[in-house]
Amino acid sequence: MVQPMPTHLPESGQALPQLAEAAHTILSATRLPDLWTAVINAIRTTLKPDAVAICYYAPDSLGQIDVYGYNISDRFLKRAASQPALWRKNQIITAPKEEEPANPTHYMLQQESLARATVFPFVAQDTLQGGILAGWQTAVSLTPDQLEAGRLVAQMAAATIQNINLFAAQARALQREQQLNEFSRTLNELQDLPSILSYVAEIATQLTDANRGKMGLIVGEQVMMFYPVNFPADAILRPLSRGQGLPWTLAESGQSLILNDYANHHQADPEIVAAGASAFLGVPILVWDDQCLGTINLFKTTPGHRFNQRDLELVESLARQTAVAIKNSRLYAEYEQRTSSLASALMRQEEMDRLKNLFVQNISHELRTPLGIIYGHAELLSSGALGELAHGQKDSIEIIARRAKMLTNLVNDLNALLAAETQEFRRELIDPVTLLSKLVDDYRLQAAEYELNITADLPEEAPFVHGDLTNLRRMFDNLMSNAFKFTPSGGTITLRLKTVDKNLHIEVSDTGIGIPAEHLHRIFERFYQVAGDLARPQGGTGLGLALVREIVNAHHGQITVESQQGAGTTFHIRLPAAG
Ligand code: ATP
Ligand code: MG
Repeated sequence: MVQPMPTHLPESGQALPQLAEAAHTILSATRLPDLWTAVINAIRTTLKPDAVAICYYAPDSLGQIDVYGYNISDRFLKRAASQPALWRKNQIITAPKEEEPANPTHYMLQQESLARATVFPFVAQDTLQGGILAGWQTAVSLTPDQLEAGRLVAQMAAATIQNINLFAAQARALQREQQLNEFSRTLNELQDLPSILSYVAEIATQLTDANRGKMGLIVGEQVMMFYPVNFPADAILRPLSRGQGLPWTLAESGQSLILNDYANHHQADPEIVAAGASAFLGVPILVWDDQCLGTINLFKTTPGHRFNQRDLELVESLARQTAVAIKNSRLYAEYEQRTSSLASALMRQEEMDRLKNLFVQNISHELRTPLGIIYGHAELLSSGALGELAHGQKDSIEIIARRAKMLTNLVNDLNALLAAETQEFRRELIDPVTLLSKLVDDYRLQAAEYELNITADLPEEAPFVHGDLTNLRRMFDNLMSNAFKFTPSGGTITLRLKTVDKNLHIEVSDTGIGIPAEHLHRIFERFYQVAGDLARPQGGTGLGLALVREIVNAHHGQITVESQQGAGTTFHIRLPAAG
C-alpha cells in the first residue's frame, strides 16, 4: 500500500527541539504585539505552514478582539474572529479542494487557497481566549510531534497573555494609587467647598474614564446639581425634590450604584439619556457615617462602555476622602453657612421661575382674546361682508389678518412649551401604527393642495408606547408643518416606522430645501431659524422644534436630524417601547 507523500514538512522529530529556542522569546514577551510576532515565528519554524492567523479575545472587556496574521487576508482574520466556536478546541480541518464548501470554515479556507488547517486554542481557566490557526495549501500530514509543538506554543502564549494582563493590571493599580495620593494631597490644600467639589467631579470623571460627571449637593429638601464636567454649556441642571431621581436614591440608601443599562432605568434623567448616556455610577458622600452630604454622579456615553466594581471602589474611596476633607470643622462651618445661602438662592430661583411661568401664562391669556377679535374683524372686513374695500385697503387688511394669525400661533406655541416643561405628561398606552396612519390621512388633503406626495411606510403592527397622545400628536404636527413649509411642490414627505431593539424608530422625511450643515446643531433651540431667507415667506417663530425636543425628552426618547441642502431633511425619533 502506498502512503501519500507528505509535502514540504520539516523532518519529523525536529519540531520539539526547534521549539525550545522559540519558547524563550514567547515567554519573555511583555507586550501583546511582541508576543504575536514570537508566536508566529515559533509556529513557522516548527510547522512550516503557508499561513498563520491569531485571534485573541481580551477578558473582562469591552469586547476587544485582537487579530494578527502571517500571509493571510484581513477578511479571513475578521471572519475567524467572529466565530468563537472555531477556536474552542484543538482540531485539524481539511477543506475540500474544488467541491462546494460544507461549512463557513471550509469556505474561508478555500478563499485563502488553504487545504488543511490546525487550530490550537489558548488554554486559560475555562474562558475562551482565542487561539492559533496554521494553514497549508496542500493536505499535509502532521506528526504527533508537530501537533504537540503547536499545542505547546499555544499553552505558552496563554501563560504569557496572563502575565501581560496581570502586569498591566498591576501597572494600572499602581497608577491609580499614585493618582489617589495626588488627589489626597491636592484635596488637603483646597480651602473651600466649591473648589473641593469641582475638583472631585473632575478627578472622578477622569479616573473612571467617564464621559460626564456632576456633583449633587443636598440642600434642605432638594438635591442641587453642581460642577458639571463635559456637559454642554447650555445644559440645564434642574434641582431634584426629595424622593425624585437617582441622587435621592443614593442619598437615602447610603449605597453606591452601578447601572449599566442607564437609559432604560425609570429614574434616568431624560436629558442625559438624550445625550446618549449608557452607563451610570453613583456614589453618596457620607459625613458622620449616616448623614449624606451629596452624591458623585458619573456617566458613560459611549455605547457598550460600562462601569465595573473597580471604578465603584475607586469612587467610594474618593467620596470617603472628600467627606474627611469636609468634616474638617472650618470647612464644615463654611458649608453650613453656604448651604443656607444656597437654600435661599434656590428658593429665590424657584420663586422667579414660578413668577416667570405665571407671567407668560397671564400674558398669553390676555393676548389671546384681543388677538382673536382682531383676526375675526380683519377676516370679516377682507371678506367684503362690511362693504367693498378699495384696492389698497384689501391688501392692508390681509396683512393685518396674517400677522394676527402669526401672533396667535406664537402665543399658542409659548403656552404649549411652558406646559411641556412644567406639567406632568399623561402616560397612556398608544399604538404608534394607528397614530401615524391617522396622521398621514389627516394630511392627505393638505398635501394635494400643496402638490406634494405623502407616503407612509408602516409595519402591520409595532410595540405600544407609553405617552401623552395630545403631545405626541403636537410633536408630529410640528414636524409635518416644517416638512410642508420647506418642501417645494412636486416633493415627497415620508413617514416611516420601524422597531429596532425594543425601540420605536420613526422617521419624518422630506425632499425639501434641506438645512445647511452649520445650522443643524442649533435648530432645536428656541426661536432659532435658519438665516439667509430673511424675508421668510414661510413665517413661523422658531419654537416648533424646541417644543418637539421637549416632548421627545419627556417620553425618554431621542431625536436627531439628518439633512442635505437642496436634497431634503429627515428627523429620526427613537421612543422606548412600553415594557
Ligand atoms: P414654528 O415652528 O415656530 O412655526 P419654524 O418652523 O421656523 O417656526 P422650527 O420648527 O423650530 O421653527 O424650525 C426651526 C428652523 O429649522 C426653521 O425655521 C427652518 O429654518 C429649519 N427647518 C426645520 N425643519 C425643516 C425642514 N424639514 N426642512 C428645512 N428646514 C427646516
Ligand atoms: Mg416649525
